[in-house]
Amino acid sequence: MQQINLVWLKRDLRLEDHAPLAAAVDAGLPTLIFYSFEPTLLNDPHLHESHQRFIVESLADLSKQLKPYQLRLYVFWSDVIPLFEAIQGHFQINSLFSHQEIGVASTFERDKAVGVWCRKTGVRWREFPQFAVQRGRHGRKGWSKFADQFFDQPLIKTDLNRLPKLDLAADHPLMALKCQQLPSRWLKTHASYQCGGEVQAKQQLDRFIESSLQQYTFHISKPDTSRYYSSRLSAYLAYGNLSIRHVLHQLNTLPSSRHKSAFYSRMRWHCHFVQKFESDCRIEFEPLNKAYRSLLSDHQASLDPIQQQALFEAWSTGNTGYPLVDACMRSLLQTGFVNFRMRSMLVSVACHHLQLDWKAVAIHLAKHFLDFEAGIHYPQIQMQAGLTGFNTLRIYNPIQQSLKQDAQAKFINEFVPELAPLPTPLQHQPYLMTPLEALMFEPLPEHYAKPIVDFVETGRAARERLWSWRNSAAVKAAVPQLLKNQVVTDA
Ligand SMILES: Cc1cc2nc3c(=O)[nH]c(=O)nc-3n(C[C@H](O)[C@H](O)[C@H](O)COP(=O)(O)OP(=O)(O)OC[C@H]3O[C@@H](n4cnc5c(N)ncnc54)[C@H](O)[C@@H]3O)c2cc1C
Repeated sequence: MQQINLVWLKRDLRLEDHAPLAAAVDAGLPTLIFYSFEPTLLNDPHLHESHQRFIVESLADLSKQLKPYQLRLYVFWSDVIPLFEAIQGHFQINSLFSHQEIGVASTFERDKAVGVWCRKTGVRWREFPQFAVQRGRHGRKGWSKFADQFFDQPLIKTDLNRLPKLDLAADHPLMALKCQQLPSRWLKTHASYQCGGEVQAKQQLDRFIESSLQQYTFHISKPDTSRYYSSRLSAYLAYGNLSIRHVLHQLNTLPSSRHKSAFYSRMRWHCHFVQKFESDCRIEFEPLNKAYRSLLSDHQASLDPIQQQALFEAWSTGNTGYPLVDACMRSLLQTGFVNFRMRSMLVSVACHHLQLDWKAVAIHLAKHFLDFEAGIHYPQIQMQAGLTGFNTLRIYNPIQQSLKQDAQAKFINEFVPELAPLPTPLQHQPYLMTPLEALMFEPLPEHYAKPIVDFVETGRAARERLWSWRNSAAVKAAVPQLLKNQVVTDA
């Protein structure tokens, strides 16, 4: 049987600085470059159709880019092990090249099964890191040096003209596994979401560096202007449309400035959070500090489940009666994006004020963040939900955030249009409207929700509860070991 190699694309949907493709070129065998939509993984609760749309857009872009080299990208609809077995029925697979994915439990399990299958069948699987993350690392010693070296490496150049082609005829039996018809919702580009693809990603990076970076730090905390002045590279990094090294190398050509250093730090945080998750991925399911397990489950058991369900419904649909909170959630549901400060506030409102289960909160947000990256998401959720026992406890007052970060209520106006007839102070706090004022503003925002809780009261109770937990012997006892195991210090 003909010997071939496979390049398995996952969350590395680009051609540039792509180690698996470069390795395939060097190996010199005919190579099948493929992506597979894996039915078993499509049920993962973190996934949303916006993620699939971004992938489809990225694959279309890749396909187009491969054409001048007379190379084809094969897109299958199959779990990968049955796909590999089917390929083995027609070819002898020599090596499988892919990036090293740091994902949720379902992809981790899938990768472990692929590892077993490769060992059993003698297929050599070479995985290449795409972030400054070391598999199996524990402890922080040496990570910083490793990261510097990773970032400084030159971009990998690949001459795709040298890659021996592998063409499957239309009637080849493997074509039966080809993706025949994708759900139509995945195919239609959505104007209010970022569009996936390496070309788009590079354009976004150029736009950011040429214009927005000069004002970066002035805007990153503001829900309205951060949309235009922060880099908006997160989804492109999450799906590997851009390599982190590519971004850093381009950044290195610029003169020093506070904006450049602030952005550089965040790129570094990206990898250090993913490294944390790689080193302790149980935090997808349980609090980092184990003492919170029983504290939280006892507390959750004391709450009224029907009321909790109603609070979750209000928070997750943007109907809490607090305009900035609702504007942030609606922005997320409509565009797949909200900035860092507002993500942090949404978690604080959900977990501290409304006392919702952090896991349900994490899943809802992950599903709707276009840039969902498990390695950033779960460590951030743990920090913001106060589950570590050593990070700063942040209990946001959404009204103060509203007045500070959206002073003119521009963001609120855009996403909570029912408040538009009100003057700015009442757009921040519509529940303060007196009956006399109500006569003056027509039409009245009658259909806007009344506040579901009193944030002053829930904030006070949360402070009391969280500090009593933080000061408990069990939480404190777990901290020294956790700090020792920390891969890197927190940003
Ligand atoms: C609860 C919570 C969940 C989050 N989940 C995700 C997630 O799933 N995916 C994700 O990419 N980011 C996540 N973040 C981090 C951050 O909010 C986003 O990276 C950022 O808002 C994306 O916008 P940007 O690309 O314009 O960022 P910029 O401000 O331009 O930052 C540049 C890049 O640095 C990285 N970055 C920025 N802030 C952080 C941070 N605090 N920690 C780690 N990396 C950072 C991102 O890759 C980002 O694209 C989360 C934050 C919170 C509080």
